[in-house]
Amino acid sequence: MSTIDPAALRADCGNCFGLCCVVPAFARSTDFAVDKAAGQACPNLGEDSRCGIHTRLRERGFKGCTVYDCFGAGQKVSQVTFLGQDWRKDPGAARRMFAVFPVMRDLHELLRYLAEALEWPAAGPVHAELRAAFAETEQLTLGGADTLPALDVDAVRGSVNPLLLRASELVRAEVPGRRRDHRGADLVGAKLRGAALRGANLRGALLIGADLRGADLRTADVIGADLRDADLRGADLTGALFLVQSQLDAARGDRATVLPATMHRPAHWA
Ligand code: SF4
Repeated sequence: MSTIDPAALRADCGNCFGLCCVVPAFARSTDFAVDKAAGQACPNLGEDSRCGIHTRLRERGFKGCTVYDCFGAGQKVSQVTFLGQDWRKDPGAARRMFAVFPVMRDLHELLRYLAEALEWPAAGPVHAELRAAFAETEQLTLGGADTLPALDVDAVRGSVNPLLLRASELVRAEVPGRRRDHRGADLVGAKLRGAALRGANLRGALLIGADLRGADLRTADVIGADLRDADLRGADLTGALFLVQSQLDAARGDRATVLPATMHRPAHWA
């Protein structure tokens, strides 16, 4: 397997043709100030593929844009799959590019999780399988503009997820004491202030608007957990597994929230 390049799994908007601002449909809501059809460019997207309101997204009603992460899929589609071809100059290529982007985004998200799990010493027993899954998934991303749209991403996810879970279990097994299991739980608005969630399984949990002030989330597995408007003020997320920046960007927090070293404190936090 080639060496993992962490930068390749982070959005590089300067090398993307604004695909996340064109491909998805938006419905006017608290997240988006306008309705927009799939495949139609956002009115704020410039000809240079830059957002005209980038520094004012929240105040202009585009909060949804601040919590999106393509995991590097945008530049991969723009520069690798389509070799730097701008969708504006070729409507045929545009349709194909827009079909590839969501698939690439899902594959890159999986690569991001696999790369993280490979950093965990406690997951050593499955490192070989993780490396193989990373190589196979990476190979899929190179499938080309005609192959990628037909790819069964759910099947890929279905084969990778058990491995990610096994890696997570190996790490969380080292956490002393009882580890709570809230996998997929509906915890919308839950009162979890000060909760002992160290090493917990919060995979896919719905934590929208949950009160997690002062909660102990160290080494909790939060893959796919919905943290929109969750209150993380004073919470400790040290070593949280599969935490991504967009989850933090969607939540609330403050200077007392303890974050993993790889994450940055969102600008809108107090
Ligand atoms: S508001 Fe800016 S970031 Fe959001 S979709 Fe439009 S151009 Fe993209």
